[in-house]
Amino acid sequence: MEFTRRIEQLPPYLFAEIDRKIAAKKAAGVDVISLGIGDPVEATPQHVIDELCAAAQDPVNHRYPSYYGMPAFREAIARSYKRRGVDLDPDSEILPLIGSKEGLAHMFLALLDEGDAALIPDPGYPVYQTGAILAGGEARFMPLTVENDFNPRFSDISAADLDRAKLALMNYPNNPTAAIAKPGLYEEAVAFARDNNIVIANDFAYSEITFDGYRAPSIFEVPGAKDVAIEFNSLSKTYNMTGWRIGWVAGNAKVIEAMGRVKTNVDSGIFNAVQLAGIAALDGPQDCVAEMVEIYRRRRDIVVDTLGAIGLDVNRPKGTVFVWVPVPDGHTSESFANLVLEQAGVVVPPGNAYGPHGEGYIRISLTVKDDRLEEALERIKQHL
Ligand SMILES: *Cc1c(COP(=O)(O)O)cnc(C)c1O
Repeated sequence: MEFTRRIEQLPPYLFAEIDRKIAAKKAAGVDVISLGIGDPVEATPQHVIDELCAAAQDPVNHRYPSYYGMPAFREAIARSYKRRGVDLDPDSEILPLIGSKEGLAHMFLALLDEGDAALIPDPGYPVYQTGAILAGGEARFMPLTVENDFNPRFSDISAADLDRAKLALMNYPNNPTAAIAKPGLYEEAVAFARDNNIVIANDFAYSEITFDGYRAPSIFEVPGAKDVAIEFNSLSKTYNMTGWRIGWVAGNAKVIEAMGRVKTNVDSGIFNAVQLAGIAALDGPQDCVAEMVEIYRRRRDIVVDTLGAIGLDVNRPKGTVFVWVPVPDGHTSESFANLVLEQAGVVVPPGNAYGPHGEGYIRISLTVKDDRLEEALERIKQHL
């Protein structure tokens, strides 16, 4: 049997080795606490669940959904953008997705030919790299460093890196670094995209999870951004709906049309009952979001204060469900992640798993109940 170069080039699954170690620890009787994956433990808001249950009872919703999503769901997404002062046409500028991960992966099929390249943040969400590879393209890293507050420097991108580049990805508030976009970043990105005839894709998964009065802007708040940009978002993180698989991409109508062409040939849309529940989430009361943000803010402070007290100099992030922690002197990402697992029974992903410039960090996820988080930090404290 022979497999494609695409498959041969795919890096091993990020959490595979970690999963193996967790299984071994658990088998040895250790009470392992995972601060690994960013997957909310709190329930989806009740009014959203109720809407799903009601909609699931109606046989109208049991048939194939529309390829392009229910118009009413697209309109609810447009209304949510309108609340930010952004106008989007629900018919041509919004495409529902089976979670934003699905759309991110399929986007490359619409924008890269064999041998074309995508500029991706390093460190970054692993799907950016693997999506480019699966499309037969190349992923070229844009380093995110602490010196530039984990923002890319478009002026540093070389002519060689721009050769055959069709697409650049951004993600703020950022996973894994928890950084936010510096003022002017999106203006710079839009100008860069225009000058170099590339598409900008902004992954806005943590749009609503921000702290201390900070509000994360959409790239479409930059005038003219729709000429060159698309933006991904989903209900996953905002409404604790990771398991429901519902998201969207919005923006440039030509890119949306091309992605729709890919998707009509690959999937058959999102269960209508899930879309109706999505409308309930977007149009319903938003105090559930404020409550989750307050929970994450409290956990963020517990992590930053506890680690600060034992000498780890951690930035207090303004967004996301992560804290990006520099490892102590003398450690690598892996050696520190291993130490924390071996000594404290706590799972933290090593930063280099998200790209070479993630070296020297670990990522702590805040999507774990307070008592488990406190227990994990207490154990780390004792063993350092
Ligand atoms: C969680 C996450 C996603 C994926 O979200 P889904 O909509 O559940 O597929 C996309 N991008 C980033 C950066 C994420 O952290």
